[in-house]
Amino acid sequence: MQWKYDRLLGAAKEFDAEMLINGGDMLPKDIDLFEQDKFISGYLDHHFMQFDSAGIQYLCYPGNDDLKIFDQIFEKTCNKYPSVTNLAQRKVEIGEYEFIGMNWVVDYPFRLKDRCRMDTDDYVFQKQLGSGLLSAPNGWKEIDDWFAYAKNLPTIEEELERLPRPKDMSKSIYVIHMPPAGLGLDMIHQGISVGSKAIYDFIKNHQPKLTLHGHIHESPGVSDRWFAELGKTICIQPGQLNDLTYVTIDLSTMKYERIKEQRRV
Ligand SMILES: [Zn+2]
Repeated sequence: MQWKYDRLLGAAKEFDAEMLINGGDMLPKDIDLFEQDKFISGYLDHHFMQFDSAGIQYLCYPGNDDLKIFDQIFEKTCNKYPSVTNLAQRKVEIGEYEFIGMNWVVDYPFRLKDRCRMDTDDYVFQKQLGSGLLSAPNGWKEIDDWFAYAKNLPTIEEELERLPRPKDMSKSIYVIHMPPAGLGLDMIHQGISVGSKAIYDFIKNHQPKLTLHGHIHESPGVSDRWFAELGKTICIQPGQLNDLTYVTIDLSTMKYERIKEQRRV
């Protein structure tokens, strides 16, 4: 995973990028998750510094696989550098554009529930792989009845309504970790669509210029789609498997290109 980060700065410079957007998940998950903070202080800090020195804006946030107990250290690390912004549930204006981020996800069968929400009030839960777990300073906090617990949380639909609003939707870019339903950007291996209906409706109703998504890493390989149009909005989901996969975007012409790079040995 680290080679992908190492390569990003070079790729950003070659494209002459003004900004890099990293929409989570950002921390390694092939280690003890309770040691993810070491990656923030031991690696991401330096990574952010390099972009800051290069004068490239860096918008990012943790994803559902990044433990929520480390949000504070993540935030502090971002705040060390003027060019780096933690965009989770925030809005930032850069040039003529407004960027708004959201990193809550629709619930899934997996046990880690730190950032999980019901999609809408009538959401039907998937079969679970075990009891729910929340990260806590002393280890996992087990949730006996996750469905009841989740029903007391805001839904994705409500979280979207709570986000800061842009002055001009036609100049706004939403960075939403969870992909919308129904556009082929949300397909898991079995060809099943697991995207958010609330996010689909939000985009359809509000029509931002651009929305950026991730989360379902295999989706472009399954559906053969990594971008879609929903009314006037362009929605992009680059996917992310073994190769470094990213999309370059020129906001003034709305030309975009998906690039896959293999690890160089
Ligand atoms: Zn995710």
